[in-house]
Amino acid sequence: MTHIPHGAHLIAGARVQNDARFTSTPANGPAHEFSEGTPAHVAQAAEAAEAAFESYAATSRDQRADLLERIAEEIDARGDAITEIGAQETGLPEARLTGERGRTTGQLRLFADHIRKGDYLDQRHDPALPDRQPMPRPELRMMQRPIGPVAVFGASNFPLAFSVAGGDTAAALAAGCPVVAKGHPGHPGTGELVGDAITAAVAACGLDAGVFSLIQGGAHEMGGALVTHPLIKAVGFTGSLRGGRALFDLCAARPEPIPFFGELGSVNPMFILPQALAARGEAIAKGWAGSLTMGAGQFCTNPGLAILIDGPDADAFAATATAALQEVSAQVMLSDGIASAYRKGSDVVAGSAGVTALLAAESAGRNANPGLYDVSADTWLDNHALAEEVFGPLGLIIRARDAAQMETIARSLQGQLTCTLHLDDDDIAQAKGLMPVLERKAGRLLANGFPTGVEVADSMVHGGPYPASTNFGATSVGTLSIRRFLRPVCYQNLPEALLPRA
Ligand code: NAP
Repeated sequence: MTHIPHGAHLIAGARVQNDARFTSTPANGPAHEFSEGTPAHVAQAAEAAEAAFESYAATSRDQRADLLERIAEEIDARGDAITEIGAQETGLPEARLTGERGRTTGQLRLFADHIRKGDYLDQRHDPALPDRQPMPRPELRMMQRPIGPVAVFGASNFPLAFSVAGGDTAAALAAGCPVVAKGHPGHPGTGELVGDAITAAVAACGLDAGVFSLIQGGAHEMGGALVTHPLIKAVGFTGSLRGGRALFDLCAARPEPIPFFGELGSVNPMFILPQALAARGEAIAKGWAGSLTMGAGQFCTNPGLAILIDGPDADAFAATATAALQEVSAQVMLSDGIASAYRKGSDVVAGSAGVTALLAAESAGRNANPGLYDVSADTWLDNHALAEEVFGPLGLIIRARDAAQMETIARSLQGQLTCTLHLDDDDIAQAKGLMPVLERKAGRLLANGFPTGVEVADSMVHGGPYPASTNFGATSVGTLSIRRFLRPVCYQNLPEALLPRA
């Protein structure tokens, strides 16, 4: 059923309109007007979140699990309308949006199950030792408690799974933290419908309406006001290195600094070891082309670099990858800004000395064609610009002289979300040499696969050393991500009646 957006912010259960408006820029279909967020809306939402905090933090795990499940139901009830407006706003195919909705509701339900089990509280108990010499020991109990109101910045490239009801919101609500979400201006109508779903679920569960607010649009001033508001105690963000770093610096410079959990992006190198290249180079090249162009390459786990040893097998790999990428037609990108950034990034690669274009990335308007470039390891190691993420379907083949130079490349990498090894049995010795290097570079290491497609599970780590993320030791996907919004509190000699309900 077609949804005509009301265009309001959702602040503590109320629709709030204001005169300042912005117009959405859909890839197709009608544009709509939305209220433009201001620092005054931030203050209103943050105060409501703080007012809701104590009662929400004191809810039982079952109550919060019920909320998460109800949100999933409310999203599904709006499923067709979400898919329709989501496809218009982002240009993503309907099938992708339906799948992403399943991932989003699945994530909410996974968190519901996770908190019902209670292990995440990491409860510890050191009984009192009154007779211990030379000093008695008091009774000590520790458990994880919610950190306070959390700000969430929705991502452009996952309008559902990393946006208004995405992983950050699910984790924060599961932990017991109210959420103030900033909708991404690329898909405000999708965000509005999902915000309506959360608002309805909060009301249906009889919780304080301040548990959730959504502020639409807004210039950088609004995002800055959100992360610097004194009542906001942590931030979840997915987006660009530039935007993320600016907000991270604001969080660190506050009179009371707060944690900023930014998932910022990565070039996700793949090391294709010699035996695997010789035995399966063609299949790996075809698989790479598929992974690189999925969703117009707009994934933070897009594998942008293929590192291999120069020679005839590398030539065959490059030829197969070029042919496979030539078959892929132009795809519409998420926004004009992202399409323009893809053009600029491609131009930097194409214009760099020593880089050969195997397939020139061509794009017009909001469309992008894949690009494939080839460079020697010596040239790549000398030019830092070639190690930067180009957000889109662009691949770079790096030809190393030998295994030692492959390792030099690994050592020179910045922090990554993922690193991939393509290897056969006879490659194990070389891979053993790379492992200690790569383990320090990435949040997730994988073998004989492609990093796009991030499983939402207990063991998943979606994060990595800076600049892949600012999530030092944390993940933004999977159940472990709840830990970002909890802090340990030790209760010394407190009577049971005063301990938290969990
Ligand atoms: P973005 O420019 O980082 O914006 C993300 C969010 O942060 C938006 O809501 C934006 O709000 C806000 N923001 C950005 N800079 C800000 C600042 N200095 N102060 C306050 N708020 C700020 O990312 P995007 O729009 O999603 O995409 C742009 C580029 O990000 C892409 O070309 C790509 O390179 C990268 N990207 C990476 C990933 C990833 O997963 N790593 C995902 C998506 C995009 P306003 O724009 O409304 O001010």
